[in-house]
Parts: sequence; structure tokens; C-alpha cells
Amino acid sequence: MAHDHVTVRVPGKVNLQLSVGPLRDDGYHDIATLFQAVSIFDDVKVALSGERDRKERFSIEIKADHPHGIPTDKSNLAYIAAELMFNRFQLETPIDITIEKRIPVAGGMAGGSANAAGVIVAIDSLFSLGLSKSEMEEIGAEIGSDVPFSISGGTAVGTGRGEQLTPALARGEYSWVLALSSNGLSTPAIYKECDRLREGMEISAPQINESLMHALRSGDAKALGKSLQNDLQPAACSIRPALRLILDVGMDYGALGGIVSGSGPTVAFLAEDEDHALDLVVALTSSGVVGNVVRASGPVVGATVIDR
Ligand code: ATP
Repeated sequence: MAHDHVTVRVPGKVNLQLSVGPLRDDGYHDIATLFQAVSIFDDVKVALSGERDRKERFSIEIKADHPHGIPTDKSNLAYIAAELMFNRFQLETPIDITIEKRIPVAGGMAGGSANAAGVIVAIDSLFSLGLSKSEMEEIGAEIGSDVPFSISGGTAVGTGRGEQLTPALARGEYSWVLALSSNGLSTPAIYKECDRLREGMEISAPQINESLMHALRSGDAKALGKSLQNDLQPAACSIRPALRLILDVGMDYGALGGIVSGSGPTVAFLAEDEDHALDLVVALTSSGVVGNVVRASGPVVGATVIDR
């Protein structure tokens, strides 16, 4: 153990498409999704504790502008990841986990999953476990369906419950404008509303549109904007009608496309380039329909050690 701490930077994600299959007997849905990691990051620091013989193996500290809604106990996904790693690799030295949070909480950007990914990568490095990326992704899948993608980053197709990843051929860099909400939405509640809205309808197996893949392969932002699609969007807008207004305002101001990310409530707008993104930020902010608007670019790499 050459170091006493490791910091891992983990990105948030947007879903360029989220196709949701019918409700399964076990209460879950098969999905097909196209993830893109974007440049809004949490930093996860894992340090060997100074008190080597303390009883608790893990402590968690959250540094955030809005820390409410983030648990610091065993239910934190970072804690669950630490527990899994410690049990699997028979680790003993207690650790302190500090999460510097910028990814919105319950925002449909997989913030909690990103933190779990950060802990896996940090523990691998801190304890010199020598795991490969795919081994870490496999461990991540045991924690949650978005965790493997937080490790891999880039642009990828996710199938199954989103955890079975295939890298997507994507050319170019995309400028995103994210309309953030300080009030999160619960993913299970959005799926439930989705099922309610689709009651009695024939739902086909989830599938990624060829037009979307083609737009990505050719680096065509305009075509990509037109192909964005999220089957959970009607449910998110039903529960949070203000999202429709935000989507309308962004499109009125010339966004190439707009989409609720994952289960929401973050709304992601695709801009033509950096300058256009800046114009969109100003327009959305001055419209008064959304409080916090930030720019991000994608794709970016997954969980990465930035300091040790
Ligand atoms: P997804 O896009 O994967 O559905 P999300 O981005 O909408 O997830 P998260 O930020 O991951 O949502 O948080 C969802 C809930 O998980 C939170 O409301 C919180 O109670 C819990 N949670 C557990 N661990 C964390 C964590 N490290 N950071 C944020 N929330 C966490």
C-alpha cells in the first residue's frame, strides 16, 4: 500500500435514448439505452483511516451545496460499494470516504451510481488489487444497473437493466446544456407512473433507434438532436408538469434537441457548439423557468484516478 488516499473523479450521464420494455413479472423492465458520460463530476476520495482499530470500517462525509437527500449511512451507494469490495477482497483497514458532490441528487444523472463506481476504482487503486476495468464493471453491476457505465464512461449502449454494456461508435464532441432541479424525482415512482400511463397498451421489446446510432457515427449533432428519445419522459412530465415548460423554452431558444435525462428531472439540451450553449444558458436562465443551468460536454471518460 504505497499511498494513504486516492481520489477518483466520476462523471454524470445523460441518456440519449431510453427505451423501456413491458413490465416483467418480477416488477422490473428490460431497457435499451444509449448512455453518454458528460462533464459534470463528483470527486470521491477514499483514505485509510488514522484510527486503524476503530469498529466501523467506513465513514462517509458529503460535501455539497445541497446535501439534503443524500444518506451518509449504510444505504449510501458508496457505502454499499465499499462493503462489497471489503468482503470480496477480505480488506480490513478502515477507510474514510469523502464525496464532493456536483452531480444533482436524484436528478436522472446516476449520481449515486457514480459514487459507487468511484469507491470501487479507488479501493482497487488504494489496496493495489490490480482489477481490470471489466472486473470492476462486473462488481459494479451487483450494486446497480448504472454503475458499470459510470466506470466505463464514453458513449455506450446498455441493455438488460442497463448494466450490459457495448461501447457505441461515436464521433465528435457534443455541447450540452443541463437544466438542473434542486428537487429530485424518485426513479421507482417514475417507472410506476410510466406503467400507469401505458396500461392496456401493447409495448414492444426495447430497442435503440438506427437514426440515433447513425447520427452518432457521423458526428451529426443536428440529426442527434432530432433522434433524442426517452420513454420515461411522459411519466416524468406527468409527475412534474414544469418539465414540459422547460423543454418548450429550450426548444424555442433553438436547442437542437431536448430530453429529460433518465428518470428526470434534469433536462438536457443539445447545442450546436460552445457559443450556442452559452446563448442557451443565458436564455434559459433569464426565462425564469429554471433556477440552475450549467454547460457540459460529452462524451468524457469514466471513473478516473486524479490524485493519490
Ligand atoms: P439514476 O439516474 O441512476 O436513476 P438518479 O441520478 O436519479 O439515479 P441518484 O442521485 O443516484 O439518482 O440518487 C437516488 C437516491 O439514492 C437518492 O435520493 C438517495 O436517497 C439515494 N442515494 C444513495 N447513495 C447516494 C449517493 N452517493 N448520492 C446520491 N444519492 C444517493
